Amino acid sequence: MSMYEYSFIPADDMDFVPTPEKIERLQTLLEPYSTHFSVKAGGRREFFGSGFMYEGIRCPLCGQEIDEIWWVKELERISEQNGFEDMRILTPCCAHPSSLDKLTYPWPAGFARFSVKLGTDDEPDFDNGPAERLLPEIEQTVGRRMKLIVEKY
Ligand SMILES: [Zn+2]
Repeated sequence: MSMYEYSFIPADDMDFVPTPEKIERLQTLLEPYSTHFSVKAGGRREFFGSGFMYEGIRCPLCGQEIDEIWWVKELERISEQNGFEDMRILTPCCAHPSSLDKLTYPWPAGFARFSVKLGTDDEPDFDNGPAERLLPEIEQTVGRRMKLIVEKY
């Protein structure tokens, strides 16, 4: 199994799904890079985060740090109840209406219906690693700005 998983998701449109032609071109682009990659498009929204440590998430309204346990519970509740279709929450710190995706995440995170995952044993090198070099190519192929999320196993 790979040590690192690189996920590319749309940077600012969680419901974006490329056309089947674009997905086919994307698969052709990815094949030489990795023997284990997967493209998911059109299913339910999924959460992409950088690992299992959820410290440092902050409330966008009062700036307080959000309790990690509260956040994990809300993530699970919303996932089970509506598959991230309705992410409205009441902030635990200042009791204001907000949304799970609008919290301030200190690390790359996001929700998406479309994702490209690549497994690799290489440690992330954010200046010229293969995944970083792939980012603009993926963006060009699908026609959307994307962001990269790295998970370590
Ligand atoms: Zn607050």
